[in-house]
Amino acid sequence: GGTPHHRPSWLVQKAPDQESLRRMRALMEGQALNTVCVEAQCPNQGECFACGTATFLILGDICTRGCRFCAVKHGRPAPIDPEEPDRLAQTAAQLGLKHVVITSVTRDDLPDQGAGQFAAAVRAVKAASPDTSVEVLIPDFQGRLELLEMVARAQPEVIAHNLETVPRFYGPVRRGAQYGRSLEVVANVKRVSAAASKSGIMLGLGERREEVLGVLSDLRGAGCDILTLGQYLAPSPEHAPVERFVPPAEFDELKREALALGFKYVAASPYVRSSYRADRAWKAVREA
Ligand code: SF4
Ligand code: SF4
Repeated sequence: GGTPHHRPSWLVQKAPDQESLRRMRALMEGQALNTVCVEAQCPNQGECFACGTATFLILGDICTRGCRFCAVKHGRPAPIDPEEPDRLAQTAAQLGLKHVVITSVTRDDLPDQGAGQFAAAVRAVKAASPDTSVEVLIPDFQGRLELLEMVARAQPEVIAHNLETVPRFYGPVRRGAQYGRSLEVVANVKRVSAAASKSGIMLGLGERREEVLGVLSDLRGAGCDILTLGQYLAPSPEHAPVERFVPPAEFDELKREALALGFKYVAASPYVRSSYRADRAWKAVREA
C-alpha cells in the first residue's frame, strides 16, 4: 500500500511540559550544547525531564553517514570541541539529572571515531555528579573493539547501540552500516565491560514480523539486556516513507515475546525512543 498520510489516534502528539522545556532551553543557551530531546522535538520531554533523564548529542550535529530514516544533517562535521565534555557535565549537574544519556552522530572522519570524546564526557559527568548514572548510545565505531574498550574504561552504566532496522533494510536504508557488525558491537559490550547492554529497532519501515522476531533472537544471542521498540516516523517527505503504523496491541505482543526470550527490560510502544525513560530501564536491570 501507499504511505499512510494521517497519523492514527494513538500517535497524536502529547504536548511537552512547557516548564521543563523552558528550563532546559534556558540552560542550553550559550552552552553550545545540543540535546536530542529538544532538537528532535521529542514528545516524551515532559516525562523524561520530570524523571531526571535527558539525552545530549556530542561531536556536533553533522553526520558522515546518511541513513534514510534519520533527520540529522549529513556532510562534513566540525572539529572536536575539547571543552564539550565539561560543559555537558556542568549542565547535567545544574539540571540535577539522575540519568544522563550521551549520543553522537557517526564520525567516520575522526581517527578514533569520536570514542575519546565519549569517554571524556562519561568521566566528566561522573566527576561532577557522582550519583548520576550514565548511558552511552554509540555509533558502530566501524566495529573496532579497541574503541569500544576506550569508552568502556570510563565505566558507563549502560552501553547502547541500536540496530535500528531489520537486516534486509541495511543496504537501502542504513548505508555505511552492516547488520552483522552492529550486532557484534552489542555482543562486544558484554565481552569488554560490566555495563548493561541495550539495543533497539524502529517499526513501520515495511519489515515483516518474522524479521523482527529474528532481530530479537539475534540480540538475545548477543546477550542484550535492554530492548526498545518504537514507531518509525519519517522526518520529511525525502526520508524513507512510513509503510505502516503499528498498533499498540502489536507492540504489547512483541514485548511479551521479547521478555519470553530473556530480555531483562523491554520498552515497546509507538512513542518509545532509545532513551525513553532510560532511567527506569537501567534501574530495572540493576535490580534484576
Ligand atoms: Fe543518523 Fe546515526 Fe545514520 Fe548518522 S549514522 S545518519 S546520526 S542514524
Ligand atoms: Fe529526550 Fe530520549 Fe526522553 Fe525523548 S525519549 S525526551 S530524546 S531522553
